[in-house]
Amino acid sequence: MTEERRTCSRAGCRQQASTAIDWRNPRIHTGDRSKTWLACEEHVPFLTDFLRARAFPLQVRPVEPVR
Ligand SMILES: [Zn+2]
Repeated sequence: MTEERRTCSRAGCRQQASTAIDWRNPRIHTGDRSKTWLACEEHVPFLTDFLRARAFPLQVRPVEPVR
């Protein structure tokens, strides 16, 4: 995936993302397909809670800051 612009995926947030959240909706994503959201420190809990509330499998990993 391209990560040229690592801004947070939360609507309206323009902060730089520090974390990538790879997630999958088992009903629409088959096999190894997944989506990636980027999150700033502040919105990691918001986005992971959103996914956990829907019982979507997710994986959180740090991303290097872009300079
Ligand atoms: Zn954010």
